Amino acid sequence: MDITRRGFFLISTGLLSSLIIKENAHAVEGRYATLVDITRCDGCSSEQIPKCVEACREQNRKRFPEPKKPILPYWPRKTYEDWSDRRDKIDTLTPYNWIFVQKATIEGRDIFIPRRCMHCDNPPCVRGCPFGALTKRPQGNSVINEGLCFGGAKCRDVCPWHIPQRQAGVGIYLHMLPKYAGGGVMYKCDLCKDRIEKGEEPACVVACRQRLKDNAVFTFGERRDIYGLAKQRKKKEGLYLYGDIQNGGTSTLYLSKVPFEAINRALIEKKDRFKMPVDVKNKIQTTFNPIGKAVLSMGFMGMAGAIVGAIISKRVHKGGDEDVRKD
Ligand code: SF4
Ligand code: SF4
Ligand code: SF4
Repeated sequence: MDITRRGFFLISTGLLSSLIIKENAHAVEGRYATLVDITRCDGCSSEQIPKCVEACREQNRKRFPEPKKPILPYWPRKTYEDWSDRRDKIDTLTPYNWIFVQKATIEGRDIFIPRRCMHCDNPPCVRGCPFGALTKRPQGNSVINEGLCFGGAKCRDVCPWHIPQRQAGVGIYLHMLPKYAGGGVMYKCDLCKDRIEKGEEPACVVACRQRLKDNAVFTFGERRDIYGLAKQRKKKEGLYLYGDIQNGGTSTLYLSKVPFEAINRALIEKKDRFKMPVDVKNKIQTTFNPIGKAVLSMGFMGMAGAIVGAIISKRVHKGGDEDVRKD
């Protein structure tokens, strides 16, 4: 059971940032937003794989998890989440598939909806992670730090759309108490963090435009412009808008000819894992209690500090070099 100084530093700073973040929980309108016009999406029915999905997989392939096997369940669970044998699955979100194209049938007509992280303005996933493994970036994207994530899935529990997906057998928990704490690492769309920081558009946006040209489903740009365009089209074309008020506002807006209540009903009927509820309140805004959250974070800090201390003292006792050792 080994831990590196870097790991210790990451955990400490993660926990500290978790504490700070929870004391500053408020909505942040990031720089960018995406408009997803589902009136234009045909699900890439003429293609082998939807182009947006293919581009995302290509863009992120190097970051996909390579679990260490055999994977052990951790107490008290008897199961774990392992998608590594189903890497080719593209019809849902997995740690290996960060966007998928959902189908809803309404009055005999198929509607196709590309689904990925909404990049909320006040993201419960960021505020809810006890280890501070998620951050909200100035560009508007919420990002998981895979080096800090224990895979407890709190981010998925608090996400109104259950977006982050867990892979067991990877991550920092393997270096600590793998039988007792952690479940892997959570994965999701980060809005192509590296690309947008360089001023490039996300890979899914580019791929759809290469196929559909001026009629592309995604429009990516400055948030004010995207919100303006979405509201203008809603009014002028009598469309329905989703994502502007849900969960207190997001960086992902959907436009549809069909009301989102009907889409959500169709998804419920087909027992889809991912729904589109219209009435989504932001739990952080409605239940935020800075004192309670701070106490909770300090509890986690103490717990993790004790674990880390125990591990380091065990390593020193073994007479090993406590600096860096890899499995
Ligand atoms: S969003 Fe574009 S690339 Fe993705 S399935 Fe729809 S048409 Fe194809
Ligand atoms: S959609 Fe879910 S995972 Fe994405 S930012 Fe919002 S709460 Fe987090
Ligand atoms: S923004 Fe990037 S990471 Fe997110 S779904 Fe699109 S290609 Fe994938």
